[in-house]
Amino acid sequence: MMLERGSIADRYAALRREIDGALRSLGRQPGEAELVAVTKFQSRQAVLEAIAAGVSAVGENYVQEAEQKLAGLPVRKHFIGHVQTNKARRIAELFDIVESVDRGEAARALDRAAAGLGRRLPVLLQVNVSPSERFGVAPQAFDTLLAEVRACGHLRIEGVMAIGPLSAQPGELRDAFQNARRCFERSGGRVLSLGMSGDWREALAAGSTELRLGTALFGPRPQKEARL
Ligand SMILES: *Cc1c(COP(=O)(O)O)cnc(C)c1O
Repeated sequence: MMLERGSIADRYAALRREIDGALRSLGRQPGEAELVAVTKFQSRQAVLEAIAAGVSAVGENYVQEAEQKLAGLPVRKHFIGHVQTNKARRIAELFDIVESVDRGEAARALDRAAAGLGRRLPVLLQVNVSPSERFGVAPQAFDTLLAEVRACGHLRIEGVMAIGPLSAQPGELRDAFQNARRCFERSGGRVLSLGMSGDWREALAAGSTELRLGTALFGPRPQKEARL
């Protein structure tokens, strides 16, 4: 147990060092990329350890799982899962930012929920740049979605999120990230959320300002939702 505990802190410190080193060698400032710890299927205990290690933002894919696990934790909460319209209210209540707005219907449901809560909800638009990915707006439909989300008075567009192709050749990965980056540049936002455990270096090279790291921080994910 103590060993496990040490290892999240060790991995966090090592990752932060590697990320800052990579930023420097790209001519970017250390600290310029935020590390969001992806906690899906991890226990609340693991999340507590990550926070103790210095993590200040977490990403969750499932509303029900986040509801129990993240309750009361002093951490910025990012929703990175598929937005189901019937869960929009809970998402707007629980999360500080929604990274995965990929269609007008989801935006409007979140907009109504945020209006009901009397808040303006920060969002990223999720762009699909990978043939293996189910969700996200196609790059050629991005401008249409952007206009739809801009019409939502209770949402604030902060940028773009994308998931890279999973087993890509380097060139394929670069092209995918550049596609996402071009959408980001049109979004008017400051956040480009690109990069997971397997491709964060390429993501930083493409200008990512936020890395969503699960496995690299926590080790292999438990198969299903952890017991809390
Ligand atoms: C699971 C997940 C991640 C983290 O993946 P790792 O490869 O474990 O770092 C990042 N982003 C999204 C949207 C995810 O669903």
